[in-house]
Amino acid sequence: MEYILETEGLCKSYGHFQALKDLSMHVPKGSIYGFVGKNGAGKTTLIRLICGLQLPTAGSYRLYGTESTAREITKTRKRMGAVVETPAIYYDMTAAENIRQQYRVLGRPGKAGVFELLELVGLGGTGKKKARNFSLGMRQRLGIAVALAGDPDFLVLDEPVNGLDPQGIVEIRELILRLNREKNITVLISSHILDELSRLATHYGFIDRGSMLQEISAKDLENVCRKCVRVTVSDINALVQVLDSMGMEHIIRSDTAADVYGTVDITELTLALAEKNCKVAAIQEQDETLENYYINLVGGDSHA
Ligand code: ADP
Repeated sequence: MEYILETEGLCKSYGHFQALKDLSMHVPKGSIYGFVGKNGAGKTTLIRLICGLQLPTAGSYRLYGTESTAREITKTRKRMGAVVETPAIYYDMTAAENIRQQYRVLGRPGKAGVFELLELVGLGGTGKKKARNFSLGMRQRLGIAVALAGDPDFLVLDEPVNGLDPQGIVEIRELILRLNREKNITVLISSHILDELSRLATHYGFIDRGSMLQEISAKDLENVCRKCVRVTVSDINALVQVLDSMGMEHIIRSDTAADVYGTVDITELTLALAEKNCKVAAIQEQDETLENYYINLVGGDSHA
């Protein structure tokens, strides 16, 4: 597999505090990589390192195969756009002026592409309105447009939906999907909002207290977070006996319910239960959520 970003044994200390510990990470080309961790886990620290805003204490990383210590890394980084912490925009400028300002920073003359870029992020109609008067979601999208001004093929977004209202969240989600699918941009998104990430990510990296706990593709994760069927009955002992006799894997959830894994033959199950005078109150499909998976991975504590 081709990776846009690979880190190896990356460490970052602030004084005696180790914010990143021996972190290995692999962002596949073309992916939307969800970088998941609680507040303070080390997500922004990693992003600051790969953007060249800070230096690692130990370890290294490769961007498009270029070593972080190589002279060419500065040039390679130009293929990357990032919105770190708050969007880097000027509030007393319009959306178009912000993009042209970024063009100047990048040494790119003229204004070709400004309107297309604003259209792409859904800000084509903002005219003379200054960024100061934009909603939070519009500012975030302008920040993304500024990050896209150098035509990067790798976009790094640090907590892009933090603080946005539901409409703003949907707009950012749709934009990220469009950039990935239509413009072939690889996206690294850090977030602690797992439900939102699960609608986007093709790959995940789970970080806790500066360490990478696991990297997994969304496909593999889906197989691990297996679907199960929750069966609610009048007699849990009868249900357990029947499931054991059928060789079905199950977990008892309460005095009246159990989750059954694998393919369940509902007719066979209900007939066998009826023979034991056990009534079936409900049969429902369940999904183990990404959040549950993450909580099990970090070992407790519900907020990611
Ligand atoms: P996240 O982005 O996952 O919320 P951060 O990378 O911002 O986490 O922070 C990781 C840890 O490093 C936190 O405990 C934070 O307080 C600490 N930290 C971050 N930046 C600094 C800094 N400049 N000086 C000291 N500690 C820092």
